[in-house]
Amino acid sequence: MLDFLGSLQRTHMCGELRVEQDGQPVVLMGWVNRRRDHGNLIFLDVRDRSGITQVVLDKEVSGEAHAKAEAARSEYVVAVKGKVRRRGAGLENPNMPTGAIEVVASELLLLNEAKTPPFSPADDAIANEEVRLKYRYLDLRRTEMQHNFALRSRVAMAIRNYLVEQGFLEIETPFMTRSTPEGARDYLVPSRVHAGSFYALPQSPQIFKQILMISGFDKYFQIARCFRDEDLRADRQPEFTQIDLEMSFPQQEKVFRVVEGFLTAAFKTASISLTTPFVQMTYDDAIKNYGIDKPDMRLPAMVSLTDELTAELRETLKIEKELPVLGFVIPRAGALSGTQKRALVEEIRATFGDSGLDFLDVARLKTNESFAPLASTIEAKLSEEQTRFEGASSQVDAADLVIVVTPKIGTPAKWNFDPQWIYKRVGALRLQLAAKFADKHGRFVKTGTEADYKFLWVTDFPMYEWDEETKVWNAAHHPFTSPHEEDIKAGRLTNDKGAVRALAYDIVLNGTELGSGSIRIHRQDVQAEIFRSLGMSDAEAKERFGFFLDALEYGTPPHGGIALGLDRIVMILAGATSLREVIAFPKTAKAIDLMVDAPTPVSDQQMRELHLKTVVRS
Ligand code: ASP
Repeated sequence: MLDFLGSLQRTHMCGELRVEQDGQPVVLMGWVNRRRDHGNLIFLDVRDRSGITQVVLDKEVSGEAHAKAEAARSEYVVAVKGKVRRRGAGLENPNMPTGAIEVVASELLLLNEAKTPPFSPADDAIANEEVRLKYRYLDLRRTEMQHNFALRSRVAMAIRNYLVEQGFLEIETPFMTRSTPEGARDYLVPSRVHAGSFYALPQSPQIFKQILMISGFDKYFQIARCFRDEDLRADRQPEFTQIDLEMSFPQQEKVFRVVEGFLTAAFKTASISLTTPFVQMTYDDAIKNYGIDKPDMRLPAMVSLTDELTAELRETLKIEKELPVLGFVIPRAGALSGTQKRALVEEIRATFGDSGLDFLDVARLKTNESFAPLASTIEAKLSEEQTRFEGASSQVDAADLVIVVTPKIGTPAKWNFDPQWIYKRVGALRLQLAAKFADKHGRFVKTGTEADYKFLWVTDFPMYEWDEETKVWNAAHHPFTSPHEEDIKAGRLTNDKGAVRALAYDIVLNGTELGSGSIRIHRQDVQAEIFRSLGMSDAEAKERFGFFLDALEYGTPPHGGIALGLDRIVMILAGATSLREVIAFPKTAKAIDLMVDAPTPVSDQQMRELHLKTVVRS
């Protein structure tokens, strides 16, 4: 027989009690985390979201309560009336915040029973993620998940508070709208009232937030849900949450200061204090020094050895004349056995495939009289970077792994359409080896301090990307991104697209893009020109974004903004390795919600009302 709650009131949460409450009468409510039966004594660990308290049921204290505890099982819902008692010497549990006390029950109420769960929420690690997702309600009971969502709530609140203090207004924008410009595939909602027409779920609030600036709201933000029907990569979700903001009359630095402010507030909730402003780097420098537009700055940068490889040396070493030669160091990863070294060289050559790149073995150069000076020059240049990185004098030595990548003779003919390819290839190798030797260099190990978080602004992205296959310039960002004023003035939009820089920026953390934004186009003539320069005809632009082009003509202020992924920020702060750990009801990599079992077919009646018919193509 189950008990009723009646008028019983909880006095404390299960994680709250300490020795100070010794002797105090209390009422706790929660779930049976574990039950241990020692005959006349039964121990119930009672859990709620704040923690766990050990409850003792002593037959001598209350036979009735003891009898109920005999019937209780894991995950039963109970209420306990009793008294706090300091645990005897040697019986404390230092691993539990409540480990110095226990509650001696005088009454136990069984408020609900539970089937034997497919896994115990008391366990730390559950291997099978599908089972976790199917029984998400049980999974979310686990301490780690409760912690993640408490953190998420604090982070979101800190960001909200900060932005409101800065004069931002939180304004909601529609979920049912028309196609937005982020360039992914839309999720569509069929209209019952308008046969054959569809709403699109927003890929971002982009157009609406710009319109809010036209409407004079000055500063807008929203913790907004976005929907993108993309082929899911490991770390993507079809719906995700962005911290989305827009402001009027800003230079990009204004946007940066706001973001640094709210990130500082967010990280403070996890007891991490950040130093601002963050480092700023142009896209060109990021490519040149890291070979990627989202540099991971927890390790030294790449170093150009182009000038050190003179024409003469290139000829003897069979290195192509004009192309860059790049080196980098993976600290403390150099002490390899002969076999390991050979395997590594093989691995590197394999990743290069037939790209025309090769690997120069500096250790071997050293042993050859005519190349020894080159080897020392290389080491000196790499030591310079190492010193810059460490902020103190630091020499590359045999304990470090030195990698030098050279283009073989004949490579440029193959690659000359993209002068950056060599930087990108070497940058990718740097990351690959950094991950491979993480145990050795130790730079990815969390210390719980600011040093774990290397933030960076990347600016001045190219406005257009050349598509070699279709031989056209594509917008590198959504088409409302403004080019640099100088590039517009100099007429580069029409005569030198490749040189046009966008007023676009990304915020990067430890090699991950946290968010991106831009200063927008606020003039209708420039917007129309950009659409045209992207090969979108006036008619097509009008058809897709006509309402927006109209709005631009009614006094649009200069404006700009950014959006950052909230899920990813919380994931990083929680130390989780998947977004699914910080989204309460996530989808699998195949975009399925295993708990509610979605998507599913719908009834014929619903289909009829929506004027739809499915034809399943194999
Ligand atoms: N709407 C953009 C995005 O979702 C961000 C921005 O430009 O503000 O990536």
